[in-house]
Amino acid sequence: MRLLDSAQQHRFPGNQHGQKQPADLPAVRLSKSKLTTYLHCAKRLWLQVYRRDVGVIDPRTRQVFEAGHRIGELARLQVAKGVLIDPDPRNLVAALAETRSALSLRRPLFESAFLHQGVVVRVDILQPEKNGTWRLVEVKNASAARPYHIHDVAAQTWVLTGCDVNLSGASIRLPTQVMRPGARDWRRRTFVDIDVTDEAIGLHASTKSIATAARHTLEGSEPHRETGAHCDRPFRCEFLEYCSKR
Ligand code: SF4
Repeated sequence: MRLLDSAQQHRFPGNQHGQKQPADLPAVRLSKSKLTTYLHCAKRLWLQVYRRDVGVIDPRTRQVFEAGHRIGELARLQVAKGVLIDPDPRNLVAALAETRSALSLRRPLFESAFLHQGVVVRVDILQPEKNGTWRLVEVKNASAARPYHIHDVAAQTWVLTGCDVNLSGASIRLPTQVMRPGARDWRRRTFVDIDVTDEAIGLHASTKSIATAARHTLEGSEPHRETGAHCDRPFRCEFLEYCSKR
């Protein structure tokens, strides 16, 4: 089901018009979600990259992810004149080129793509500000901004700053009513923004260290970690069955 209103969305043609391709992508590529996963559990990051076949996402967690996607789509529908960059992760090179060109349009960008020091991020909403700067907006289906949300935003602001994007700030956009898994009334939501600029900037140094440590993890063999309470928070890890048997 396509939830976005085509009258509001303007798929940016970017690469189809001959923009220069970015340099080759690094072999070991990280993303903001991979950095968040590393912070949660280094073993989980390793398994996500090399042993996806042993992961099982339980139905409840799948519903949580779907509710999050719907909240993201709803937030985009409430931003006028946005440009949707190709969201398909298989087309990352094209998305990076599209983003570079789309920045000159000075319109809200959805799923804009950036790469810095081997870390790729896709930004939920990049909002142009009146003074020629940009505000980064991360949409979360939560009742409050959690510490791991701030790490997520920090990874993005670190990458965008490294790409010379002139950022004026960063916010987490939360629904005034959290969407429960399986909810049907998903369109009836408004949002509130929480400014996390200072918190995100304060994490830039550690973001670089986390990226280095995550890369080392992926260059090594499967890490050892005992199962524990962290395996069920913030949601059940897809590798719990695998780890429990070892
Ligand atoms: S089940 Fe627990 S120990 Fe195993 S990868 Fe997931 S979070 Fe890590």
